[in-house]
Amino acid sequence: MDQKDFIKEFKFKKRFGQNFLIDDNILNNIVEKAQIEEDSLVIEIGCGAGALTKKLVNASSSVVGYEIDETLKPILSTIDADIIFDDFLKRDVKKDIEKYSYNKLYIVANLPYYITTPIITKIIEDKIPVDKIVIMVQKEVGDRFSAKVNTKDYNSLTLFINYYFDVKKLFTVSKNVFIPKPNVDSVVISLERKSIKYDVKNEEVFFKLIRDSFRQKRKTLKNNLKGYDFNLIKEVLNKNNYNDDVRAEALPIYVFVEISNRLS
Ligand code: SAM
Repeated sequence: MDQKDFIKEFKFKKRFGQNFLIDDNILNNIVEKAQIEEDSLVIEIGCGAGALTKKLVNASSSVVGYEIDETLKPILSTIDADIIFDDFLKRDVKKDIEKYSYNKLYIVANLPYYITTPIITKIIEDKIPVDKIVIMVQKEVGDRFSAKVNTKDYNSLTLFINYYFDVKKLFTVSKNVFIPKPNVDSVVISLERKSIKYDVKNEEVFFKLIRDSFRQKRKTLKNNLKGYDFNLIKEVLNKNNYNDDVRAEALPIYVFVEISNRLS
């Protein structure tokens, strides 16, 4: 069956974040921006009716797709990709891809927005060895991921993501190129694994520090970090020309790295 005919008959499920992309230029643009190299493996999360999957198959040696909705099987089975019909969040992805040999691993997807953060967190925590991620996300989420110091969107999630990846906003996408039309605007972003990692002595201490520092956004760092030895923190702050009453949103990531190393 033709993809357009399939979509006409398809019963969209809101609970799965199903908004299918129907603009060929945008689909091509996403694949182009991923700059997929030869001998690569691409993972797609949420294949839908396969519009992006098809393009990815043309651009790479192998594609592994995840799709939670089995009613999409008839259309997806016509595409030359290995589709796993299951919840991505429950998969052992490293195991799923162990049979492939490849030089570079990419994740390219128009994500189901209701689970954007759990997906990114899973990719990081499961240590999926991905080189580059190109994903469409809700505009507000893209703003948070790429937020600069001293802006309202800068928070612990920004730091968590930027610890691992260089984040770039690539282009915005109108609501009108989806079926059904979503309520939110979208943006395509890329996350490229940092070539040089921050020198953090103890990641547990670092991540806890970040979470605690932003616990209440309007409070100063000192007030958010009540249980900590603030004299040690103060030394790092003053050395970097920050006052004791600074807020977490004013501090760049390298200051958090220094503080956490001082506390470790
Ligand atoms: N890639 C298609 C496109 O661009 O048109 C569909 C994108 S749509 C925004 C998100 C897709 O993710 C839907 O097909 C939905 O069924 C699927 N999905 C939702 N939750 C999922 C999960 N936990 N695991 C795998 N796929 C999921």
